[in-house]
Amino acid sequence: MNIRLKPGKDKPVRNGHPWIFSGAVAKVEGDVDLRDRLCAVYGAGGERLGVGYYNDKSTIRVRMLTVDTAVNTAVNTTKSIPTLTFTAKDLQSRIRQSIDTREKNGVLTTNTGGNTDSCRLINSEGDFLPGLIVDKYGHGVCIQIGTAGMECWRGAVVDALSDIVNPAFIYERSDTASREREGLPLSEGLIAGALPETLVITENGVKYKADLRAGQKTGFFFDQRENRALLRRYASGRNVCDCFSYSGGFAINAALGGAASVVAVDSSEEAGACLSENARLNDVSDTVKFMKSDAFTFLRQLRPYGGDRSSIDLLILDPPKFANHPSEVDRAARGYKEINLAGLRALAPGGLLFTFSCSGAVDPYLFRQIVFGAAADARRNVQILHILTAGPDHPINIAHREGEYLKGLVLKVQNL
Ligand code: SAH
Repeated sequence: MNIRLKPGKDKPVRNGHPWIFSGAVAKVEGDVDLRDRLCAVYGAGGERLGVGYYNDKSTIRVRMLTVDTAVNTAVNTTKSIPTLTFTAKDLQSRIRQSIDTREKNGVLTTNTGGNTDSCRLINSEGDFLPGLIVDKYGHGVCIQIGTAGMECWRGAVVDALSDIVNPAFIYERSDTASREREGLPLSEGLIAGALPETLVITENGVKYKADLRAGQKTGFFFDQRENRALLRRYASGRNVCDCFSYSGGFAINAALGGAASVVAVDSSEEAGACLSENARLNDVSDTVKFMKSDAFTFLRQLRPYGGDRSSIDLLILDPPKFANHPSEVDRAARGYKEINLAGLRALAPGGLLFTFSCSGAVDPYLFRQIVFGAAADARRNVQILHILTAGPDHPINIAHREGEYLKGLVLKVQNL
């Protein structure tokens, strides 16, 4: 199967962007082979650009697997062009490379006497494996296949992981909305090995119960690991409020860092139950209190006590994704503005705000502008102390800015 692009649409592909949208496709030649969905991609001038996998049900028609720069100029030459393809061997070597990077970048330090046994092993486009997420949970792994193209490689992925990682279990959590957009059924359950009844993981020495069956994402948010460790350094003696707390990553680190009090706010009862259990596991139940509430309402009701009389002097805002698609950016921006405004109003003078956005469609600069708007409206004086992103187990392909989904700011907040 061949895909021919419209004029001018080849450049991002040549530069390594892995997505080709329906609007960039001029012509589709041949039928898709449902065994691998592979297609060769050509520019408008007839030059071959690389190989990807195809799905006519998705607005992202092609996700590129290889871009062969060597053949980019081959259109008018008589030199033989090597066959561009993508095989199970290529897949296996990318999986191996991804895991190798994690072993070398110090995230997983168990072998060297450290204290983190879990992290992301494969980060989809960021590891040149579009549609594949693999998270390591202790001795096991949890996989998420998000696209029809990657679904074709399911068997090869499982084989490669068994070979390279030899995990105690392989669990699957392919239950994302993206699968529905790809025309795939949801798929969940145990693929290999045995899942322990209670799974406890360690991150920077902190213990968390991870619920692979019912938890959010694949069960835990590994992308905040380094930001939680940073928070721990700032928490001593502070009254901390962790909004959108989920299983308590920030709240527990705050308590371990010596916070005077920690209130964790989440609208989910189950998240609260998990958080309370994690607080017990880490011996900080006396400090961490869970409050089931809508975070917007919770912060707004603090407002009358804000300003000089506010008791909160370290606030974390880590809301769920507000924009799933570029068309939702305006609505998301209003949401971020609102929550940051409420947060900035509630913080005591001299307080710190750790504020995050995990919407890929809201870029880091826009996020900063939104927070600036909130600071101006709240009449607060704000200094940026840290600019944050996800850790190195969530690499980003530099050509794929959509992959830079997590961004955060640590702000010191004073009165004007
Ligand atoms: N900070 C967490 C991850 C947050 S995920 C960590 O470090 O692991 C987002 C959380 O926001 C989810 O637990 C979800 O239940 C919660 N949530 C979603 N909407 C909410 C709302 N309006 N108010 C409070 N919590 C909300």
